[in-house]
Amino acid sequence: MNAPMNPPPIAAVRSRLAAAPAQLFIDGAYVDAADGATLAVEDPATGETIAHASSAGPLDIDRAVRAARSAFEGGPWSRMSPNERSKLLWKLADAIDAAGDELATIETLDNGMPYGIARHAAVPMASESLRYYAGWPTKLGGETLPVSAEGEWHAYTLRQPVGVVGAISAWNFPLSMACGKLAPAMAAGCTVVLKPAEQTPLGVAQLGRLAQEVGIPDGVINVVAGLGSVAGQALVDHPLVNKISFTGSTATGKAILAASARDLKRVTLELGGKSPCVIFADADLERAIEGAAMGVFFNSGQICVARSRLFVHRKVFDRVVEGVAGFVRNLKVGNGFEPSSMLGPLVSRAQLDRVAGYVELGTAEGAELVAGGRRLGETGYFVEPTLLAGTSPDMRVMREEIFGPVVCAVPFDDDDLQLIAARANDTEFGLAASIWTRDLGTAHRMARRIDAGQIEVNGGLPMQFALPFGGFKQSGIGRENGREGIEAFTELKTVTMRL
Ligand code: NAD
Repeated sequence: MNAPMNPPPIAAVRSRLAAAPAQLFIDGAYVDAADGATLAVEDPATGETIAHASSAGPLDIDRAVRAARSAFEGGPWSRMSPNERSKLLWKLADAIDAAGDELATIETLDNGMPYGIARHAAVPMASESLRYYAGWPTKLGGETLPVSAEGEWHAYTLRQPVGVVGAISAWNFPLSMACGKLAPAMAAGCTVVLKPAEQTPLGVAQLGRLAQEVGIPDGVINVVAGLGSVAGQALVDHPLVNKISFTGSTATGKAILAASARDLKRVTLELGGKSPCVIFADADLERAIEGAAMGVFFNSGQICVARSRLFVHRKVFDRVVEGVAGFVRNLKVGNGFEPSSMLGPLVSRAQLDRVAGYVELGTAEGAELVAGGRRLGETGYFVEPTLLAGTSPDMRVMREEIFGPVVCAVPFDDDDLQLIAARANDTEFGLAASIWTRDLGTAHRMARRIDAGQIEVNGGLPMQFALPFGGFKQSGIGRENGREGIEAFTELKTVTMRL
């Protein structure tokens, strides 16, 4: 059960954010960008500029990467004992929790998400990723391996940190996404240059102060807000960066992969999705309807795993569509600080236009607008959650990631699981899928047949850092979380010795 919530310190946080730009954090010091550039940061609930953030250029990125390099090579981080690194990761998690009211308030102002989600999901996800990975430095090691050769040999592997990591993140869960990259990288012994999304730099900017408070050495964490085409690109191009850990769109992910090929940087990509939710006729429909609705509308649909294609057996199609439409009508959309708001605004004007454009396109392509579809109010970027039916596989609303609260419902008649899975797999993406059925055989067979990194049967868990997370096909490369998530920040070295 959630702990009782203090009122969010909105006025105090707003005036502090407005007082001075959120600076870059490089080598243990808060600094302006070398050329003085700043970004305007909006409150998506009002569209007003509420703060500015220093916007890094290539010079700042170079300084940050060099600071990370020297903290990695000569500095204390890579030489620190694993248990000391563990303690510091845990302390950073505690510091995040202690600043939870303030950080959650910033996340709601910056991204628009309801305060309850910021306070009870986003901030705890940030600290829990650090706690999960705080357990790993003392366990990460190589193996002793058998050799089939003449003579007597000793062969073993060492797992060593990959080096300096450029972590580039999206705006939908700014703080937790940044910590989800920071935690395994630091646990592996790497140092990090974090580049948050330009829409939401404010919460991540606090990490420098918290890192200092708990005694993380200078240069281990550097935070450089800035434009993707400038700061992000400079980080990807920098020769002293060993690995890019990226979360964002598939188009940017492809560009990063191509740019990384120049010096063969290691790359992990967490990209877009067009994930299916498949409801069989024997499912617990009450749960399935709520699960299908929240599987796409949570965080106003701005979730990479949004179940934006809803496949329902014809026998229960009308009931499910009516149920989801009813659910949609009861979802209160409003300012994230209103306790009754279940969904906040979209993050930006661009995102509002994108969602409105797809709703218009879907209806122009012949889809039926069953519920929602309208912009709400004149200020801020609010939109009704939207249910489209009568959509066919070739429509753009069925093929392209909208990254907003729009779901396309499609009936299926057949009972051939191969055919049902083929419809679910008819996408260039492969991030996640939901299956709703009471039949164990159907559940496990579908789980095997759907091409996606995360399969949920009869409901989903909150983010679990022990469980690998990532995508098939154009939803990404590599995995975050779990053992795979930390190993992705290491190089494996084989040592052989004649005895
Ligand atoms: P985006 O690709 O436009 O931006 C993401 C980040 O990349 C930002 O920090 C941006 O500044 C930076 N960037 C942009 N161009 C760059 C370049 N040329 N070089 C280096 N960095 C650059 O994505 P977005 O629209 O902000 O985010 C939404 C997308 O993120 C959606 O596609 C969504 O599915 C995806 N996403 C994926 C996951 C996942 O875990 N798979 C999680 C959240 C969001």
